[in-house]
Amino acid sequence: MLADRAAIPFAELKIDALLVSSPPNVRYLSGFTGDNGLLLLTPDSQTLFTDPRFTIQAAEECRCEVKTVTKTPLDQAAVQTIRKRRWKRMGFEASRMLYEMHQRLGESLPKGVRLKPIGPVVEKFRMIKSSGEIAQIRRSVLTNSEAFEKATRSIRLGAPESAIAAELEYQMRRLGAEKAAFETIVAIGSRSALPHAQPTARKLANDELLLIDMGACQDGYMSDMTRVLFFGRPSRRVRGMYNAVLKAQLAAIDAVRPGITAAQVDRAARRVLETEGLGKEFVHSTGHGLGLEIHEGPRLGRRDKTKLEPGMAITIEPGAYIRDFGGIRIEDTVLVTKNGCEVLTPTSKELRLL
Ligand code: ZN
Ligand code: ZN
Repeated sequence: MLADRAAIPFAELKIDALLVSSPPNVRYLSGFTGDNGLLLLTPDSQTLFTDPRFTIQAAEECRCEVKTVTKTPLDQAAVQTIRKRRWKRMGFEASRMLYEMHQRLGESLPKGVRLKPIGPVVEKFRMIKSSGEIAQIRRSVLTNSEAFEKATRSIRLGAPESAIAAELEYQMRRLGAEKAAFETIVAIGSRSALPHAQPTARKLANDELLLIDMGACQDGYMSDMTRVLFFGRPSRRVRGMYNAVLKAQLAAIDAVRPGITAAQVDRAARRVLETEGLGKEFVHSTGHGLGLEIHEGPRLGRRDKTKLEPGMAITIEPGAYIRDFGGIRIEDTVLVTKNGCEVLTPTSKELRLL
């Protein structure tokens, strides 16, 4: 059971019980995949509160006690349990609980019960993936890459960004994903300079860059990949920029191993792009953890001192963006292993010509 691995340090946190309200954390701890669940944890009990739409689903998915709540918000049912058990120090996830819920709890909990904000404790456990989770991420990565191969085969001159994005997501779902991990990015020509471009009606013309950033969500687990294609014959400038970003990406992958910090991996990519004269054009961090959410810890940026550990799943995705010209980003999903890392993404990183 997932929750066994997440030994919440109640004593250290000085709490009697913890309220977990964010769906990915609820799912991680209890197995419940519905979007309305509140988990009440103590050192020796686990209760999931949900509404009648999820009674059957929760019984199938969870091994913990499930309470179906009607007529009141879930937190009000939790209050009754807290009152009965006389817990005094209630932890809640400071960065996850809605203000509304916090306010209601504050008003309805008995006098003497304290609500104590807790940092990302569950997220810390989630950073290190179990072998089961790694297998799920691998499947998601393979689905994503296969969808990319299938969809890119049919790209023709004149295809709009929106149609290319739709085809990528259609293929993903046909291959087993339940949805895209995030809104698929398809950016043609100078629009590729927008790192988070949303697909538009812009059509693919001759001698243009085509940047695709896509991820699958399969059995709840995310994958993430960016590739750049070119329709026609790339100029020297495009080739030069592509090779510089690829060099940075390979340098960062080379740096990934247990014990190194997330910031050091970012530094490895940044150093290459600075040497190539593209330091200022690299406007985001080198990567991020992923799993039940598309963005998890660690953040591979300048300031994250988290030490990498075996079992972390991260992306490596340096890029360079030039206004009115275009952008290049190359991204793989990577697993930190005992001796270094394994690049999970099987898709070739050569500049693909259409
Ligand atoms: Zn991406
Ligand atoms: Zn990413």
